[in-house]
Amino acid sequence: MSDRTFGNVLGARNRKQLATIAEALNSTDDRELRQELRRLVEALSQKGLEWMHRNDAGLREKMEAALHPRFERTSSGYLLELVSVPPVGLSFYEAAKVHHRKSPEAGKAEVDAAQRQRLAAQRAIVLLTALTLNAECGLLSPRPCARCARYFLKNRADQNSYCSTQCAHSVTSRVCWKRDHEAKLKKARRAIAKCSGPQWKQQVSRRAGLSVKWLTRAVNKGELAIPVLS
Ligand SMILES: [Zn+2]
Repeated sequence: MSDRTFGNVLGARNRKQLATIAEALNSTDDRELRQELRRLVEALSQKGLEWMHRNDAGLREKMEAALHPRFERTSSGYLLELVSVPPVGLSFYEAAKVHHRKSPEAGKAEVDAAQRQRLAAQRAIVLLTALTLNAECGLLSPRPCARCARYFLKNRADQNSYCSTQCAHSVTSRVCWKRDHEAKLKKARRAIAKCSGPQWKQQVSRRAGLSVKWLTRAVNKGELAIPVLS
């Protein structure tokens, strides 16, 4: 994610801003940001901001410092905007502390990782602050989609579980298939109990109304035990 400026963020009625936040929550390029922001948004939807401020030392101060006011001259007068404070990386001293007594390669890798973590934490705070100020923050799903694990913007107020009808349908159809499959297995087991001999598959097929091919597949998958051949 680029360092976007959250201009005019105070009480913004801004779907676009929420889309940017969802994008960061789903980011595959910036895993550190994704992880840190998910941790914060999860706490926000489950425990609320007050709880977070009480339990996460320094969070409130960091949020208060994440955006700063700026006067903008516009054609119709002045506009007070809140813009995001650019993230600040590790200082030379901090980097040296991370690097301390390590081989050049190992030290560099650790400094890079600490740097990414630092920037991600600051960006996450900016995005969290913008989210809490967004007048339409309720449009962001309270948790990731139950199927694809992506955060999404809701189309309806009660859309809490799935990001799309596609995701919802694919889960429903899988559940249906499983229920159907279990019922078939049950039928097959009942029939198997009454059949014997080398021709058992044909007998079971007739009794249970299942194809021989289906029975073979179920046996190969270990879902059905073959009858004791006498
Ligand atoms: Zn989904």
